[in-house]
Amino acid sequence: MTTISKTITKDDIIVSGARSTGVIHIGNYFGAIRNFAKMIDDFENPSFFFIADWHALTTHQDAALLKDSVRKTLATYLGCGLDPNKSTIYLQSDVPAISELYLYLNMFAHLGELERTATFKEKIAANPNNINAGLLTYPVLMAADVLIHKGTKVPVGKDQAQHIEMIRTFSNRLNRVYKKEIFKEALAYSYSDDFVTVPSLNGSGKMSKSDDPNSAILLLDSDKDIEKKIKRAKTDTGPTEKNSPLTQEVKNLFDLMALFSNEEQITYFKNSYLDCSIRYGDLKNQLALDAIQFIRPLREQIEEYINKPNLLVEIAKSGAEKANNSANNTIEELRDTLGLTRKFLNKISN
Ligand code: AMP
Repeated sequence: MTTISKTITKDDIIVSGARSTGVIHIGNYFGAIRNFAKMIDDFENPSFFFIADWHALTTHQDAALLKDSVRKTLATYLGCGLDPNKSTIYLQSDVPAISELYLYLNMFAHLGELERTATFKEKIAANPNNINAGLLTYPVLMAADVLIHKGTKVPVGKDQAQHIEMIRTFSNRLNRVYKKEIFKEALAYSYSDDFVTVPSLNGSGKMSKSDDPNSAILLLDSDKDIEKKIKRAKTDTGPTEKNSPLTQEVKNLFDLMALFSNEEQITYFKNSYLDCSIRYGDLKNQLALDAIQFIRPLREQIEEYINKPNLLVEIAKSGAEKANNSANNTIEELRDTLGLTRKFLNKISN
């Protein structure tokens, strides 16, 4: 059962991130990054937003590409409004305590539950020649990301909901074994009753970084590219009977319209679908126009940050310092609980 929380209380700690693989698409934006920025503005709780560069290594093993993606992901966070003065923004690999917690949490993650994870099954189908242990233990690293700051609210998209349940399984197990409430339960956070899922342009499934590049609209796409991609989006041959239900391909286009277009436009095209007068070319033109209007200012802000590498380094450095302070507190407490206190004498004496 997926548990979504729609509330933030004063004790909540907010943690989330996105993998630095390729460039951020509108699915990442509407499913996650837009909410990160909004949460920073709406709540005064401690918040930690990271760039998951270790997670990226499970499928992206090209050093130059990874560096480029990390830089662009950080610029994207900032360009989309994440304020580094109100939140801690950092690179996962700058916080060594996360890898230590990952090691401990692996002792509380059972093989069966890892193998049953939906994203693991998807990833092994997509990468049959590289089924590495990193893919299998991805939810454990994600648990370490959240628990290292004792995170309790995790804004994510639907595809990550199962991972948040697994975080609770691991942390509850650890608490139970050591008879101490070291970690509170982490919950997936969403502003609405359900998770937002942005569909792919290829007619089925969600928009994804690993799909055909034409099926995802990237925040850094030019106006022309956005238009081209939307015009190529899959449709059907058109309704032949009045009041027909929407086919999946056409529903996807309406779902995209709901993100960018106004009610009046959406109603107009819905009615023309119902009375069979719809022309998909017109719908796509409108959608492209509205999407471009929405994405262009974001792209320009992201590009501004990409062109300020010194500022990016400064922000990453100060974020790493704050993240390490928080992470080291958790890891010290945990080492003590596990019997691994750093002080040698304490370790062997009682
Ligand atoms: P990832 O790129 O897998 O690290 O995802 C970063 C965030 O974007 C996660 O919270 C995902 O749930 C979210 N996300 C990715 N794709 C989509 C999509 N098509 N629709 C909504 N959210 C998404």
